Amino acid sequence: MTRLKLAIQKSGRLAEESLALLERSGLKFAKSKDKLFWFGETLPIDLLLVRDDDIPRLLLAGVCQLGVVGGNVAEEKAAEKARQNETETTLEPLLPLGFGRCRLMLAAPEKGAIRSVNDLDGKRIATSYPELTLRYLKARGVQADVVLLNGAVEIAPSMGSADAIVDLVSTGTTLRANHLEVIDEVLASEAGLYRCPNPLEAEAEALIQTLLTRIEGVKQAAEAKYVMMHAPRAKLADITALLPGAETPTVLELEGDPHRVALHAVCTEQVFWEHLERLKEAGASAILVLPVEKMLA
Ligand code: ATP
Ligand code: ZN
Repeated sequence: MTRLKLAIQKSGRLAEESLALLERSGLKFAKSKDKLFWFGETLPIDLLLVRDDDIPRLLLAGVCQLGVVGGNVAEEKAAEKARQNETETTLEPLLPLGFGRCRLMLAAPEKGAIRSVNDLDGKRIATSYPELTLRYLKARGVQADVVLLNGAVEIAPSMGSADAIVDLVSTGTTLRANHLEVIDEVLASEAGLYRCPNPLEAEAEALIQTLLTRIEGVKQAAEAKYVMMHAPRAKLADITALLPGAETPTVLELEGDPHRVALHAVCTEQVFWEHLERLKEAGASAILVLPVEKMLA
């Protein structure tokens, strides 16, 4: 019987949401005491809990077939492989997951001499992402020295060990505290489901497909709403047009009222108060918006 291994971050910014997404997709695990390997009970997919930085290597080595990791970490590894001319072994993203959003930014001292990437020729850039930084510089024809730091990157300019930095930024508070300002975006990142590059046997590929379909369903259901209301029969077309991302609605008789109907629809886009107010203006009443737990198109 084929079993797949899926790696997620053990603890950190991606850990909770990665596990929650898998659980919402119907995966249940027997948690082991050492908390490194969890046996998959509902699908033959086992969990490996590791440091996020290890996930690309585990996928490339074929130790795991699937992994949830930030685009920043996956692309850093892919850029390294591409530079070593191993393009055929890059990591393959299957699906963006919509959490763990962050941006890798070029930043330099506030009101300093570096105003754009073109001012970086011959300068030193501190970063934990040397490959993405080199790729970014190369694409712009800039020659600079990349200084690898594995932490406290943002203090490098004030310590005099770099002229600029490339670092992950979410709010910008850390940058401001160190008197740095953003010059340019190097990479926009979110967590993704990644797979090993080599093709697997048919049963394993089918299992990956099952997981993908379920995760896509969970992602869709997160936004989707089931909307019910009463509406004037004469206004059906207007009202349907006001529903965000709705397919053809279901229309039901209202006992004893020939002019009004009950209308049910699944809205696949977010439903806001503004939508409900416009529906009411168009003559709808008794409007209910219900969450959708699962969806299989
Ligand atoms: P580990 O011990 O697993 O190596 P870590 O310290 O490298 O953990 P975290 O800080 O938990 O990692 O971040 C994991 C991922 O979360 C990052 O690689 C990135 O994709 C994403 N992320 C989202 N927002 C941020 C942010 N504001 N700063 C850093 N990373 C972020
Ligand atoms: Zn890490």
